[in-house]
Amino acid sequence: MPNKRRVRWASMLVWTVLCALFGTPLTAHAYEITTTTSGLPVAWQPASVAFEEDPSLEGLPYGAVASVGSAIQVWSGLRGAPALSVQPVASASQPAIDGNNVIYFAPAGYPPAKNAIAITILSYDDTTGHIVDADIVLNGIYAFGVLPETSTPQPGAPMFASDGEGTAEGSEADMGEFDIAHVVAHEAGHALGLRDETATRPPLMFLYSQPGDANPRSPMSDDLAGIAELYADASAGRGCASSTMSPRRPRAGTWMWMGAAALLGVVLMRLRRKAAWRSGALAMASAVVFVGAPWPPSRHAEGDARARVVAAHGVEVLGPWRTEVSLSILECRVARCPGEATVTEWGGRRGNVVQEVGGAHPLRVGDEVELTVGVDQEVRVLRPLRAIPHS
Ligand SMILES: [Zn+2]
Repeated sequence: MPNKRRVRWASMLVWTVLCALFGTPLTAHAYEITTTTSGLPVAWQPASVAFEEDPSLEGLPYGAVASVGSAIQVWSGLRGAPALSVQPVASASQPAIDGNNVIYFAPAGYPPAKNAIAITILSYDDTTGHIVDADIVLNGIYAFGVLPETSTPQPGAPMFASDGEGTAEGSEADMGEFDIAHVVAHEAGHALGLRDETATRPPLMFLYSQPGDANPRSPMSDDLAGIAELYADASAGRGCASSTMSPRRPRAGTWMWMGAAALLGVVLMRLRRKAAWRSGALAMASAVVFVGAPWPPSRHAEGDARARVVAAHGVEVLGPWRTEVSLSILECRVARCPGEATVTEWGGRRGNVVQEVGGAHPLRVGDEVELTVGVDQEVRVLRPLRAIPHS
């Protein structure tokens, strides 16, 4: 077989087998969905879901309440998602699993949000994946505004994590206002079951935002693909050749790499000539990049120590759940580590219900985590990094 044909054949084989293995669509995408412990999508079951605007939103600039309302509704009914309605309520409340999905403004800041711009507290049944409650809190350590739709960030404006642990350097004061519509629309994506997208900039679910940035204010194609996966748009085709309506993202990196290794083996066995061998390896590498496998295969937040969760108990408090997590240190990479430690984390598990605060999956007994160890031996849990965010 001539070399060129051989290479083309090898590339086609790579694609065909990858498609067969993972049902990867023709377009690259980067969305992440929330899943239960057993891998079920975490989504709303009812055909319509109501949100409420807490009176605390009146503390935001004029026009904020209307801006919050339309930001929630940009997702309404898209790709199988429930119809979303928003209405103001007269009586104040606190985030809780009470069947009311409420948007709050915390003018003095909100500890569960840490340094994030806003946070979503998502509670779901871990056996079915059905969402039971979603509350959104805007973190008042930042300034919010109803910005012009065309507003773009100042050159050099710092990047901030919309939610979760991440944060940028710099002080919160005098940095400008965050666009309410842009921030709430992002959080509404979490309230529907989407996770942060950490790889590329355009989607609404991209982890970071900047003061002054008013876009996007509505879901983009990658966000919608995630919604279609969550809400099982049954009418949409799925797979390599059919459509990009409902692309299914390979969930487990392990499967991906097992498949890739097996595939590489097949290709190498078939390609004995040296030049073709090299091209085959190249085709393999590009295929892996295309389907979005993390590179290198295991990217962990490397900390000062590694520990195993030996116990996790719910702490009785008002508002978002807290969980006391007992850790046994397995490996110490700094001068001194405690043998065991206890940390209190936001979110948790009670019976079948899981509560995620800011998209962090609550730790369970047997989980292994990376830690930072302070000079006073105080430990902090590092969450694994799926990718390095663009800045
Ligand atoms: Zn987010």
